[in-house]
Amino acid sequence: MGSIPARSNPATAFGELPPFQPLNDDDIRSYLHKAVDFVSDYYKSVESMPVLPSVKPGYLRDELGASPPVHPAPFDVAMKELRASVVPGITHWASPNFFAFFPATNSAAAVAGDLIASAMNTVGFTWQAAPAATEMEVLVLDWLAQLLHLPRSFMNRTGASRGTGGSVILGTTSEAMLVTLAAARDIAMRRSGAGISSLAVYASDQTHTTFFKACRLAGFDPANFRSIPTRPETDYGVDPLKLLAAMQADAMAGLVPTYVCATVGTTSSNAVDPIGDVAKVAAMFNAWVHVDAAYAGSACICPEFRHHLNGIERVDSISMSPHKWLLTCLDCTCLYVRDADRLSQSLETDPEYLKNEASVSGDVTDLKDMQVGVGRRFRGLKLWMVMRTYGTANLQEHIRRDVAMAKMFEDLVHADDRFEIIVPRNFALVCFRIKATGVQAADEVNRLLMANVNKTGKAYLTHTVVGGRLVLRFAVGSSLQEERHILSAWELIRKTVSEMMK
Ligand SMILES: *Cc1c(COP(=O)(O)O)cnc(C)c1O
Repeated sequence: MGSIPARSNPATAFGELPPFQPLNDDDIRSYLHKAVDFVSDYYKSVESMPVLPSVKPGYLRDELGASPPVHPAPFDVAMKELRASVVPGITHWASPNFFAFFPATNSAAAVAGDLIASAMNTVGFTWQAAPAATEMEVLVLDWLAQLLHLPRSFMNRTGASRGTGGSVILGTTSEAMLVTLAAARDIAMRRSGAGISSLAVYASDQTHTTFFKACRLAGFDPANFRSIPTRPETDYGVDPLKLLAAMQADAMAGLVPTYVCATVGTTSSNAVDPIGDVAKVAAMFNAWVHVDAAYAGSACICPEFRHHLNGIERVDSISMSPHKWLLTCLDCTCLYVRDADRLSQSLETDPEYLKNEASVSGDVTDLKDMQVGVGRRFRGLKLWMVMRTYGTANLQEHIRRDVAMAKMFEDLVHADDRFEIIVPRNFALVCFRIKATGVQAADEVNRLLMANVNKTGKAYLTHTVVGGRLVLRFAVGSSLQEERHILSAWELIRKTVSEMMK
């Protein structure tokens, strides 16, 4: 009889190592404490790091290796590599010397909420799949709607006063545009009997370019994308009469005006479209009106800025991103619609494996029917943590402080006759440039100024083109920013100009 070889014991295949348990309590505690210590140290030291890294493309692969590690390593190895290789390649959005794009504001409460949401890792596609996650999202969106004084028609259909409204937290403004475009597209086709190639969409030439990308994704024909030119006389807000003319011309030509995107606080220069007048024009054609208030929507929680949303009761949807200016880390875009059914009719799925009593009862919101995907993070938690912890008073104070610092910077620019302000400041973005004669020469000088300032690592600002001219954007509001950072950035800009003029 041949002997049967002893079966190798899988537990001993890795020597004396304990079984692999990626969520064991000791690791959770020790890894997360290390991560939290890292975060705390990071915020303490980020001010002294160059805002823009000086790494070359491909650097990280060279440092961390191109093939995946087979063998385990202590968590400290990952933390060491994070410090040594990753941090030096980060553009520090958290730095108080960051003035580029729009700030990505953040807070201890939001990061804590995000951490806990990641740990629970619920996938709340239906109410039943995570009741508290769904209800918290709906609740916190209704809270925010109250801060923004949105009409009741945008509030969720829960409780005694069930209306038609609804809201959802998405990842980006682009998604908010995409899902509302899909709804508007289906409604327009049902109503007119026209094919998709006859549907036309409208936005000002200052609208974020992601809008026309969303239109392409939703199947609209690029031949029917209308970009309405704006002018300095209206501070680059759209002229409703020009919109009317474009929509009329299309209707005369047999097209179906379907969707208008208006912006409160454009990315380029913070221009504001007159929402009420845009909505009146759109109503003549039964077109859907969406308001993109990604950045400036947050300011509208302060009564002194709320007038920018005047006329909001006439629009079909509005989105704003607390991950830009309301202290809530990425990603958090809040979309409100006046008629949630119109949205879900285009986005609904109803597979057998998600059927449940709560959904059938109609008493609950299944948020999967208001977004592109099925799975979804528990994003409501971080926004709730922010609103619960700081309260409206602090949130308003935060906006006002940023605006005051931006105004201070604007005053400094005004007082130096080598510079000019290009568009009036609406919120916490200042658009300015060095004066110079000759359009091309001025563009070159300003481009050089930006490059020289950014090269120092002591400040980071970006540019745009407004009215054919290159303009520098100074976006105030990075969460660690104080007056002194604005003052030293201004000193740096002045010094750089003086050196350039030598
Ligand atoms: C930032 C911004 C966008 C782009 O938003 P995503 O969330 O990145 O899709 C769109 N519109 C405005 C006005 C913005 O400021």
